[in-house]
Parts: sequence; C-alpha cells; structure tokens
Amino acid sequence: MMSGQLIVITGPSGVGKGTLVHKLLERYPNLHLSVSATTRLPRAGEIDGKDYYFVSKEVFGQMIQEEKLLEWAEFAGNCYGTPRIAVEEKLQQNISVLLEIEIEGAKQIKQTFPKAFRIFILPPSFDELDHRLRQRGTETETAILRRLERAKEEIALKEEFDRQIINDDLETALTALIKEIESII
Ligand code: 5GP
Repeated sequence: MMSGQLIVITGPSGVGKGTLVHKLLERYPNLHLSVSATTRLPRAGEIDGKDYYFVSKEVFGQMIQEEKLLEWAEFAGNCYGTPRIAVEEKLQQNISVLLEIEIEGAKQIKQTFPKAFRIFILPPSFDELDHRLRQRGTETETAILRRLERAKEEIALKEEFDRQIINDDLETALTALIKEIESII
C-alpha cells in the first residue's frame, strides 16, 4: 500500500514554480522532490543527477519503451519525464513526493495516480510572464517565444487542476501553497 502523497506543481514556464518548490522544501525538508530526466542541455550551473538527469534522445526513448517514466512530455523542443522507480519507492516509504512538471505531464499523472493533488501556478498576467521569462535570461529569443506560445495553451487548461494559485507576490503565493499542502500531508 502506498501512503505518501503525490503533489504535482504545474504551470507555464517562467511562472515561478521552481522558486515556490524550493521554498516549500525549506519548510518541509521531509518532502522528496523528484528529479526528472530531460534531453535538454544543462544550463550553466546545473548539475546532472541534482537538477535533472541529462540524457540523450536515445536513452530517453529507451526509458519510455521500458516504461521507466511515470509521465513524459515534449516541451519547447526537448523531452522531460518523471522516473517512476524513485517516486514509487518514496511513496511506499510513506514519504510525500513533489513533482514540478509542465501541464501535459501533469494531466497524464491523473491517469497513473488518480489521487495525486495537482496545483496550477498562474502568472498575474501574460505580460508579466513574458517579462519574467526574459528577466530570467536562461533562454534564447526563439526559445522564449516558443515557451510563451505554449503558455497560452496551457493557461487555458487551468480549470482541469485541483487548485489554482496566482504567483503575483511570492510570499502570498507561498502562503497559499503552504495552506494547500497542510491540508493534504
Ligand atoms: P526547464 O527547461 O525550464 O527546466 O523546464 C521546462 C518545463 O519542463 C518546465 O515547465 C518544467 O516544470 C517542466 N518539467 C521539468 N521536469 C519535467 C518532467 O519530468 N515532466 C514534465 N512533463 N515536465 C517537466
């Protein structure tokens, strides 16, 4: 019997999911953050096995074939997926697991884990998301435009998720997120 909770934090790229998740982990050190596999190249400072498992397209394809991923999606030209085994092990040990993933994968999770609690993080406006993605300075102009285009489609799906939290002011969003987490763990 699995007894930890599976908590999914989703929302468009640049909305601040990563910052919120890291603040949550500071507050709840017992939560386990799943490390995803990706075919994207590492950004400066990213560490293999900590930020992501950086793998080739071939290896990623093999992981799909061997059903080693709980969910996966293509996002802005790269593939991202959640390794199954680590998540299942933690849940079995009664440790709650956080996934920080994009929307397509978050939709898939509902099939595998109907009890997963899925929170959608929204930007205060589309212009603000545009601003944040540019300020982050991690993407080329082409990649920014791809991410923004995708964000429009993603935001339209927000009602499919259990909760929606607007990340306007970080502390306010964090307080709202903590309230939701407290209600389930
Ligand atoms: P980035 O390239 O900015 O690190 O991530 C791009 C998007 O992929 C982000 O929205 C991030 O949350 C999402 N992502 C990261 N890991 C996974 C994963 O394992 N599965 C899915 N579906 N999306 C992921």
